[in-house]
Amino acid sequence: QFWSPSSINKNKAMVENLQNHGIVTSDEVAKAMEVVDRGVFVPDRSSAYVDSPMSVGYNVTISAPHMHAMCLQLLEKHLKPGMRVLDVGSGTGYLTACFAVMVGSEGRAIGVEHIPELVASSVKNIEASAASPLLKEGSLAVHAGDGRQGWAEFAPYDAIHVGAAAPEIPEALIDQLKPGGRLVIPVGNIFQDLQVVDKNSDGSVSIKSETSVRYVPLTSREAQLRGD
Ligand code: SAH
Repeated sequence: QFWSPSSINKNKAMVENLQNHGIVTSDEVAKAMEVVDRGVFVPDRSSAYVDSPMSVGYNVTISAPHMHAMCLQLLEKHLKPGMRVLDVGSGTGYLTACFAVMVGSEGRAIGVEHIPELVASSVKNIEASAASPLLKEGSLAVHAGDGRQGWAEFAPYDAIHVGAAAPEIPEALIDQLKPGGRLVIPVGNIFQDLQVVDKNSDGSVSIKSETSVRYVPLTSREAQLRGD
């Protein structure tokens, strides 16, 4: 049993609100966000559906629903059934689960997270969500590691999402992107831009800035735990 009726309704209302504000425009994104109950991914279920980031320990936060929605929208064409997606800094596993539902059992969704305790709790969260069968089948997996190196095993990826801000775009992530693929990554230190990197068929990249954002840093585990 994945959801209690009240949480299904609250999660659905959250998605409808994002649709009413024009943040969610794709049916596939709406469907994924509807079936993956955000409530099972956050420590405080009562505020799971409020549009704000929330602390999950280890000096990091789960992003606000509108940021998750925006990233899903930006990647939507690269999350078709059968495609491969990498989620760097997968944290609670919420977005990895949404990605997995969109690419389906023929696709592959890989999360990489450098705090082993978060990897373990994200697996529990996913097991309590609608993405649980995909985790069991193996089309969805979360690994402990430094996401700045990407995850070479299943490269190249149609879509790469980074959930923490990098001082500059890690080369490995561009290398692991398929021609025609798209990387969405916050870039910067104090002032950050959400950058959309498209790899062209000749291997060159086109980069555009989508909006100003504020994410926790993509850094080493030691620096994060020190709170640098
Ligand atoms: N999308 C996630 C974002 C969590 S915050 C969610 O909404 O739940 C960013 C995450 O990136 C944190 O969990 C943090 O531990 C992780 N992170 C930061 N630097 C990293 C690195 N170098 N490699 C892997 N994960 C990293």
